Amino acid sequence: MIKQYVFSFTEGDGKNKKLLGGKGANLCEMTQIGLNVPPGFVISTEACLSYLDSAKDELQAGLMNEVRDQMALLEKQTGKKFGEPDNPLLVSVRSGSALSMPGMMDTILNLGLNMSTLQGLIKQTSNERFGYDAYRRFIQLFGKVALGVPDEKFDEVFDAIKAREGIAADVGLTATHLKEISERFLGVVHEHTGKPFPEDVYDQLNVAIRAVFRSWGGKRAVDYRREFNITPEMANGTAVNIVTMVFGNMGDDSATGVGFTRNPGTGENTMYGEYLVNAQGEDVVAGIRTPKPVQEMTNEMPALYEQLVELRNKLEAHYHEVQDYEYTIEKGILYCLQTRNGKMNAQALVRTSVEMVGEDLITREQALLRVDPEVLEQLLHPRLDPEHNSQAVAQGLPASPGAASGKVVFDADRAELLGRTGEQVILLREETKPEDIHGFFASQGILTSRGGKTSHAAVVARGMGKPCVAGAEGIEVDTRKRQARVSNVLLHEGDTITIDGGNGKVYLGEIPTIPPEFSQELKTLLQWADEVARLKVMTNVDTPEAAARAVDYGAMGIGLCRTERMFNAQDRLPIVVDMILANTLAERQEALERLLPIQRADFKALFQVMAPRPVTIRLLDPPIHEFLPSERQLEAELERLKQLRNTVEGVGDLMGAMQLLAEGAAQPITPPMPFNENGVELIDQAIAKKELMLLKVRELFEVNPMLGHRGVRLGITYPEIYAMQIRAVLQAAAECAEEGLTIHPEIMVPQVCTAEELLRVREVVLETQHALEQEHGIKLDYKFGTMIEVVRACMRAGKLAEVAEFFSFGTNDLTQSTFSFSREDAENKFLPFYNENRILQDNPFEVLDVKGVGELMHLAVEWGRQTRPDLKVGICGEQGGHPASIRFCHDANLTYVSCSPPRVPIARLAAGQASLMSPSRVIIANLKEQEELEVIV
Ligand code: PEP
Ligand code: MG
Repeated sequence: MIKQYVFSFTEGDGKNKKLLGGKGANLCEMTQIGLNVPPGFVISTEACLSYLDSAKDELQAGLMNEVRDQMALLEKQTGKKFGEPDNPLLVSVRSGSALSMPGMMDTILNLGLNMSTLQGLIKQTSNERFGYDAYRRFIQLFGKVALGVPDEKFDEVFDAIKAREGIAADVGLTATHLKEISERFLGVVHEHTGKPFPEDVYDQLNVAIRAVFRSWGGKRAVDYRREFNITPEMANGTAVNIVTMVFGNMGDDSATGVGFTRNPGTGENTMYGEYLVNAQGEDVVAGIRTPKPVQEMTNEMPALYEQLVELRNKLEAHYHEVQDYEYTIEKGILYCLQTRNGKMNAQALVRTSVEMVGEDLITREQALLRVDPEVLEQLLHPRLDPEHNSQAVAQGLPASPGAASGKVVFDADRAELLGRTGEQVILLREETKPEDIHGFFASQGILTSRGGKTSHAAVVARGMGKPCVAGAEGIEVDTRKRQARVSNVLLHEGDTITIDGGNGKVYLGEIPTIPPEFSQELKTLLQWADEVARLKVMTNVDTPEAAARAVDYGAMGIGLCRTERMFNAQDRLPIVVDMILANTLAERQEALERLLPIQRADFKALFQVMAPRPVTIRLLDPPIHEFLPSERQLEAELERLKQLRNTVEGVGDLMGAMQLLAEGAAQPITPPMPFNENGVELIDQAIAKKELMLLKVRELFEVNPMLGHRGVRLGITYPEIYAMQIRAVLQAAAECAEEGLTIHPEIMVPQVCTAEELLRVREVVLETQHALEQEHGIKLDYKFGTMIEVVRACMRAGKLAEVAEFFSFGTNDLTQSTFSFSREDAENKFLPFYNENRILQDNPFEVLDVKGVGELMHLAVEWGRQTRPDLKVGICGEQGGHPASIRFCHDANLTYVSCSPPRVPIARLAAGQASLMSPSRVIIANLKEQEELEVIV
């Protein structure tokens, strides 16, 4: 059987986006559910791949025959003829891959126009101006997309004629002007390509199809796929849609518009969109003219507004999803040209998810699965402090919410250049185009002086979750001079501005921001996630403030408190240093006694904030030299101190000499501190202390400190350190218990490789527990467990579980030890190269290495639970907040994941999704489906 590559909208499978592309599949679906779609057909993505695979720049045999057959059908349906001078059929040629990539690939409009069909079009419409306008648009688009003529060549001609005639807006151009422009455009093409513009309409079609296929491999599209991780499995190749042209620029009973079925910036369930009377679709999308809000159509075209509402309702009812649709009104008839799932920011996604459940459009499960956990991060971004009293200098449209400050740049390349050096930048342009995409990636926010809420800038910024203010018309941008005039101020590149995408305001300078709040909808959605999730979500924090924030985000406990971070605070570091410098046990004990009440207070504060949730406290982990300055730093400090001492002594000498010189002076000269004896003494003390520290640093030197004297190894060789920490934890627990607070402390030992280490530490824990229980007359409730972060711990998990009541995978260290990669060196030396060259797909320090580290985790869970079936198992490495890793942790039967506070909401949603997507659940769902089928049969 010959493979079919071309499908009419009436026959294509609307569910097969992989084959027909998203746009093509939807056009088929919309046609088949009775919406008014202009007749057309789709050339499949398979045809695209086969064209791109072949060495020759030729469409595969037979494809054009299929296309011709379909064109014949279109001719039948429309009563027009392709290439016929009297009654010409015109088509658009549009790209469309399986996953939406807005504006990343190419589209050609008005194809089928040539010298003779142009006359037919003019006759058909009795509108010469319209005819030449269509023709010049076609020559430019076809020239650019299919023949590679740079846009500027056309713009130069266009602008020159406008300037010569003193015309500001395009609508001011007459038929004669447009005729001249068309002729000069034909000349531009001839000059650039060395050939005349193709007159044969099937030649035009053939060239256009190939150009759209090739745009799949264009830079813009490739950059976009890389940025959004669109793999070949997700979308491979673009389909081509050939659609009968309908014109929104046929007079005042014609219009073109784009809409979202709900507000994509807030999620509000309302008509949303913009339109332009007497204009072509590209005018709206490109932001060339600022369109009107759709609500104005109630006055201008009330009957059509009603039809549009009906269209919107039908789209949502059919797709059960917010739609982003495009339409054209040609002489009072409404056509739907395209629909796709709407790209929304996080706020809108969350709100629509919850509201659509309320409206019975989707189920709770669908609502949960519909939101990519990572986008929730957008909701954790700051917004402008409402108390600020800066005056806005310009007002645009609130196109994508969030606030951002940064240095103004006027083109995407500069944005990328500065962004790469770590600068915060705001990209300010008159309007943006798809080729500016790299500038979006590098910018904190986007500001345009033209275009509406559905302009390119707005759509792309929203998709990326970046703040955007569009159409701030008070700003005059001069890209060439790299400056812009905003009210009376001249902005130069590098000046700082702030934009508020929530209300469209633009400010000079940087405005303070405040942290965001959780919306009720987000709370609801995350509560649904918690209800279906099996994994608990804990947090990694070490201060009560961070703990309180994590609780607000929904943390169910502390999975990791790194006690060493508490040692670094200013009031304790000197005591810690004394402890390290101690030469005898008694000296060390003395320092530890001073640390004990401080640590106890720390732990108590954490317990109080978290009660009754579990709090896992990890005993000291890093090598102790980390609390001392480096050898180099100490040497430099000592050198400076010694120089200072010389200077001070020199000043003393000078004073003496001055006394001699000022013979008979009534008052002896007394130098101030530090230029006196006290000063010298102070400096001597400082030198002595620093010398001691230097000696200690040299004594503690290790070649590989991360594999050296740290973690439990330190705790066993200096048992008094862990003893102090254990006492502090259990005393804090006893005090809380006495105050009637229900708490669940957990003591965790780092870097363990053998059960014997755990036994030694547990002995100290038990002794302390018994002593405190007697002292306070209460029973202490706590758990004792271990980090699993070295390979041997995984191999000995069965034995460790005899002592440990819980495991926590420290996947930062476990990844290091599994790969034998030092994290610090790997991430700034060879890992980026490995990732770019696909030697490793991901950075294993961010995304859990399921195949290696994951296998070890499976073994450890299995062997640990063989010994202790109720063993609690969690993960507290960085990967614990990453959705794909969370999915793995769910499937590996972990009890919890623990991550930093801002990742908690993301992890909660990911944990809920993991439950919904877990194999066992899918099997149940399939079974249900089968049962239903049986019933139906
Ligand atoms: C780990 O190794 O994964 C861990 C959580 O410990 P740290 O990052 O403190 O070494
Ligand atoms: Mg570790």
